[in-house]
Amino acid sequence: MLSKALPGPDRKMVQDAITQGAVRCLLDRGDPRLQNYLLCNACGSCTPYCPAQINDPGSNGDSGYLARKVTAALQAGRHPEINLADCVQCYSCETVCPRSVSIGGIINAVYEMEHVHPVFRRMLLDRGGLPPHAFLPLYASKGRLRNFVTKTVRHPYRADERAVDEARRLLLHPVAASAFSLPGHPTQKQPLAPPDRVFHLRSCCAFNYPGADLSQRKILNALGVEYVTSRSQTCCGGAPHYMGGAGFADRLLLTTRNLSVIQDVCGSDDIAVTGICPTCSDSYSTALELLATSANRTVASEALDQVGREVCSPEAFSVANILDLYPLYLDELQKLIETRLSGLHVGVHVSCHYRKMNGTPAVPPQLQSLVAVTGARVVRSRMEHYCCGGVKNLFDRHLNGHPHEISRLNQLVHQDFTDQHLDVMIVDCPGCELVYDHLGVPVLHISEFLALAMGVDPREAVYVQGHLTSLSPALGRIGIL
Ligand code: SF4
Ligand code: SF4
Repeated sequence: MLSKALPGPDRKMVQDAITQGAVRCLLDRGDPRLQNYLLCNACGSCTPYCPAQINDPGSNGDSGYLARKVTAALQAGRHPEINLADCVQCYSCETVCPRSVSIGGIINAVYEMEHVHPVFRRMLLDRGGLPPHAFLPLYASKGRLRNFVTKTVRHPYRADERAVDEARRLLLHPVAASAFSLPGHPTQKQPLAPPDRVFHLRSCCAFNYPGADLSQRKILNALGVEYVTSRSQTCCGGAPHYMGGAGFADRLLLTTRNLSVIQDVCGSDDIAVTGICPTCSDSYSTALELLATSANRTVASEALDQVGREVCSPEAFSVANILDLYPLYLDELQKLIETRLSGLHVGVHVSCHYRKMNGTPAVPPQLQSLVAVTGARVVRSRMEHYCCGGVKNLFDRHLNGHPHEISRLNQLVHQDFTDQHLDVMIVDCPGCELVYDHLGVPVLHISEFLALAMGVDPREAVYVQGHLTSLSPALGRIGIL
């Protein structure tokens, strides 16, 4: 692929022109994330989708904003002289890029080298994931400390000691990203078949929405899909990776270790991995793709060997993200719906990371179809193609001491919700849910929404009182609360 972008000598010349800094170091190390920046032909497709561009009013009309500037600088042999912290790691640029240039990955690689985040790193080492106190500042800034304490008591973070110890040992003996190679093209995903049994992942972000997790379990039960969980599962490394607390290889090894745990619990064949978080789905999807290469498997094997684990066989797994899983049961869901939500006007927002995982910028129809099953009216949003603003941006604002500084994208998202006279937003991602919720927009995860439509108790099972923004006006109007 690279040779088609620039002939060999030019490519070498470009690389040699970068003489110092993180980019030089990454090139010298052969970091796989920097493998294809030469493919960028400045088409500009990525620019309008980049939240960093939207967040900077001065950048309007600047056809070379953040994403494009990174590749332009590298192609010119310069370090990108821009604030990479502005990147919210949504990967919209990569998803929309006709040449699959891994801009988000390049920024992530540079960011990882220059700014490993000590807070998130510490949490990973101590707890094997983002524990509840990672989210404390978000509750404090909203004056919702009681809400936070109640959740920590009712829904404590659980990974067993051995799991945390294994994760810690992997993180303390880091493997360089350059030890792994990325496949040239994403492999064609096989359509998901209805699974008999699934492994249900516990997501770190589920702390904020225990109802999303409980609802998912209720839905699986109602559909007759057996699920298993394990306290030996830790964080996949996805959320900390995008926020600067886990490197590329850290994330891959944490996920690979979890795959080994899952294989122990589920046996060896046809294991579907599900959960409420598309960033987790993307971690597993990426790991399975990387582990399909024998050289990558060898490197991962050596690392896992140190903690007494074996690398699983990737062919045994499929990733059953809920936007792929639930639509297999539309007829069954239709029969299970007891409480019609037809009085609600809802917007739908599909996460950037789900779209990244599927390699398409198009808004997939699944979320809309699932909402339609409940009888609620879906109002399409003019913001539906865009990132919600990003969890990274939310955390950055709090960590930088500007919790109330709302980004321009956040303002547009909020304005759109108001202009469309929506009752509630429906999302597929607990991270997007947190962004909307913190912004003051009533929001429900699709699993919470479906569970409500099936008639489960909104307080006990869906735990709607745990949200930062009250759902009482919307759900009270249709008699559910
Ligand atoms: S990952 Fe998102 S924020 Fe970062 S450059 Fe790409 S589109 Fe912009
Ligand atoms: S969409 Fe891809 S090819 Fe086009 S400017 Fe962006 S990175 Fe370059």
